[in-house]
Amino acid sequence: MSSMRCVVALLAVLAGNALIAAAAEKSGSSSATGEIRLTDATIEINYTGNAAGMDRNEVREWIAASANAVQSYYGRFPVSRVRIRIEAGEGHGARSGTTYAYNGALIRVGVGRYSDSADLKRDWIMTHEMVHLAMPEFSDRHAWLEEGLATYVEPVARVQVGQLTEEKIWRDMLQDMPKGLPAPGDQGLDNTHTWGRTYWGGALFYLLADVRIRERTGNRAGLQDALRAIVANGGNVEVSWDVRRTLAMGDQATGTNVLIGLYDEMRATPVSPDLSQLWQRLGVRLSHDSVEFDDAAPLAAIRRAITARRGG
Ligand SMILES: [Zn+2]
Repeated sequence: MSSMRCVVALLAVLAGNALIAAAAEKSGSSSATGEIRLTDATIEINYTGNAAGMDRNEVREWIAASANAVQSYYGRFPVSRVRIRIEAGEGHGARSGTTYAYNGALIRVGVGRYSDSADLKRDWIMTHEMVHLAMPEFSDRHAWLEEGLATYVEPVARVQVGQLTEEKIWRDMLQDMPKGLPAPGDQGLDNTHTWGRTYWGGALFYLLADVRIRERTGNRAGLQDALRAIVANGGNVEVSWDVRRTLAMGDQATGTNVLIGLYDEMRATPVSPDLSQLWQRLGVRLSHDSVEFDDAAPLAAIRRAITARRGG
């Protein structure tokens, strides 16, 4: 069983945080210091490590903003209660995160104690970890379905609530999606456990699924509808479900078989979609360090629908 999903911005920093966390657990120095009550969930915040000088109001605002993005994307917060352990260290910003389902949902995030509002507003790790709350636990070979989901949904959820711009996420996708393409010798996403295939190969799966669902439904439904249905039916990090059962539940909500079909295409075969053609159809292209949109492109409406704010 996969017992955690995580993201590591800097390996060296993770090692440091792991030491801090281990020391804190040993000494039992973790203390409950805050709570955020959402309409449908409670977030309990704890601090470990040396949090001297850390602005806890800023940390709270940051957690609340991430929760707002995730709650808005899914139409509800994925679990009724989550504990968030802030592991304070030196420096600025969030560095690493891990999400567990152990005695309830738990997110650990390493944060520099000198983080200011700007550092935390730039952060994507807290939202990434909260997206992990919204998918059942799969076995290790399916880690790409979990990391890919967090990689794809995190920026989309933040654009939908105005925390990021469309330009920023499409630029990032154009730059980073190629990291998810199969290399020689690849045996499909279920059998190739490299970093690129796990995070960006998984993200590519969800982007392709989103576009395909929207093409098949005349842009009336998208991946978001499928994911909302999974969560509404009780799918979250606290349960272990079969991958096919979970994807079929999402497909049922969109009246398609896109998730199961794409899973069967990509799980054991190195699928290498033509990304330049995809970007062209969506009407987005890199121009120096920014992107330009072409609203006359065949899938421009689909591109806009992916990041459009949705109702509850
Ligand atoms: Zn992750």
